[in-house]
Amino acid sequence: MNFHYQSFISLFFTLVVVSVCGRRKTNTTSTTIVTNLTTIHNPNYLFAQDITILVVTDVHSWVGGHGPNEPHLNINYGHVVSFYERLLQHAQQQQQQQQQQQKDLFFVMNGDWIDGTGLSFDLTALTQILQQMPWDAINVGNHELYHAPLLEFITQPGGMIDWFGNKYLSSNIVLTKTQQTFGQRYVILQGNHSAVLTFGFLYNMKDHVDTVLVQEIEAVVQEAWFLDALHNNTYDAILVLAHMHVQDPLVQVLLQNIREQVGTTMPVQFITGHTHIRDYAILDEWSASFEAGRYLDTIGVVSFPKANQNTTTKNATQLFTHHFLDANHETLSAVLDVDSIDTPKGVALSQFIATTREELGLNQGMGCINQSYYTTSALGDSASLWGFFINAVVPSVLPGKHALMLDKGDLRYDLLKGNVRLDDIIAVSPFNDTLYYWKDIPGSVILQLNESMNVQHDTSFLPLLPSYILAPSETIVPSTLYELMTSEFEIPSIREALVAIFPNALEAKPTDLTATQLWLNYFREHSSCGIPHPELTPHKDEHTESNQTQAGEPDSSQEDQMRLLFVGVAMGTILVLGAIHIRQRSHQFTKLRVTREAVILDARHEFSEEDSSSKHRMEEESEGLFV
Ligand SMILES: [Zn+2]
Ligand SMILES: [Zn+2]
Repeated sequence: MNFHYQSFISLFFTLVVVSVCGRRKTNTTSTTIVTNLTTIHNPNYLFAQDITILVVTDVHSWVGGHGPNEPHLNINYGHVVSFYERLLQHAQQQQQQQQQQQKDLFFVMNGDWIDGTGLSFDLTALTQILQQMPWDAINVGNHELYHAPLLEFITQPGGMIDWFGNKYLSSNIVLTKTQQTFGQRYVILQGNHSAVLTFGFLYNMKDHVDTVLVQEIEAVVQEAWFLDALHNNTYDAILVLAHMHVQDPLVQVLLQNIREQVGTTMPVQFITGHTHIRDYAILDEWSASFEAGRYLDTIGVVSFPKANQNTTTKNATQLFTHHFLDANHETLSAVLDVDSIDTPKGVALSQFIATTREELGLNQGMGCINQSYYTTSALGDSASLWGFFINAVVPSVLPGKHALMLDKGDLRYDLLKGNVRLDDIIAVSPFNDTLYYWKDIPGSVILQLNESMNVQHDTSFLPLLPSYILAPSETIVPSTLYELMTSEFEIPSIREALVAIFPNALEAKPTDLTATQLWLNYFREHSSCGIPHPELTPHKDEHTESNQTQAGEPDSSQEDQMRLLFVGVAMGTILVLGAIHIRQRSHQFTKLRVTREAVILDARHEFSEEDSSSKHRMEEESEGLFV
């Protein structure tokens, strides 16, 4: 795994900026800035300046919101639509009442809409939900570029890219085949009182699928289209959707190149993301950068002025405002000063999402747990999710001579105390990569490999954990041969280190298992809160007795046991696996998609009917919304 984080020029900067990620590297130490509800009486304060932007970023398919175990995050994309519609209406009514106040509101999404919940396993269902969102501009995140079938799906004629048309931006991403961007290089957001030149950049991503090419930002800002965009359009401000950390050095590269072309007083607002934090930075007197959380935990709002050469204020601290709104009903209702934020279109979308999740079986109960486990906790901590995985899950579902090595970023979300739904498990382990194995790797080699993979300790991301985690960690016997397992995504990096230690290692072979299935299998066997889960003590050594006799020999009885176990649990999870394979097996992709589409189309039909009738209701209701 390459770390895409680039060192900053000063130590201070290095300390402040928390992380940059490849697929797995996202920072989870979000700064919680809770809106002070007592001071909010209406949404005017959000419209501090001429141009206001509503932001969602890095939602990673959490469009249905969070589960009952997180009551403080109780909104879904339907509620977000309701909130946006009411804000828009408020802005329009305000300017009718007060002619001097001329405000524009835009709504943007800053990428990473896949990989997070069970909805990611059904692209048709997920994109149909996304396509209901009234976004004015959409940026591409790195997660959209890891899956060739996904790219094929959204770029097909009539796909999601076509659906959104010129709102879908890909300023520095081109299709390898055509050398053309699949989205637009830029768009002018045309409001009633302002025009905003808007770009959509992705960091200099390297590990994308080969059907696209990510152009380096340092180079692409020298190209003619970029200079033309800046010089040959009329606009009042510049908005840069940038899928990168709030103070990524590339933000400065973009800003400097913009400043060279348009001068120092053009307002430039950066909408950043990717590192999953709430953060804000003043970049210069007329520029700011804003990052609004992850997984639908935050609705972001920024406001900034139109270019005005005559202004006497030259202080972005005053000119640019921002707010992080907690994604719950209480906060959004307080902002709007209404009892319910619902609008007909929002309610219809919430219902559509709920129906889709139900059809996919994502609410299916898988059991419950008596305590919470966290991705951020150190391995020895009793609340460590990774500790739970290596000491309880892996020994249970991978008995015998197996050693599983994964990246610390493979587990993406906490497992929270209470009832556990299928979607909660997928959220913990959403990548669902096929597991591969190298046969007959000596324990001594695996221990050495574990050391070499962890020579560098990345303190910017999950600092309490080693970069790679070996399970089971305490039981590897040097003289025993193991099947060394890892996920498909990690093969290149692990293979390189493995061959350096053990040149005899052959090519890794696929198993029938995926990373997500390990968790599902575990909960099939340990589903009740009445049955205590194994203690988080070091894994009991099961190998002592057979170590001498099994060197070099496959353990057939244990393999049979494993097979029986997997067959049993597979029967119970067949619905899930159908959806899972959509992502995993590209040759099955089309066939399964058609089946799923038949189900979803029925639901969509109902939704569309609801939608068209709801428009009338919305119009009828509109006068009374903000009295
Ligand atoms: Zn992300
Ligand atoms: Zn990202």
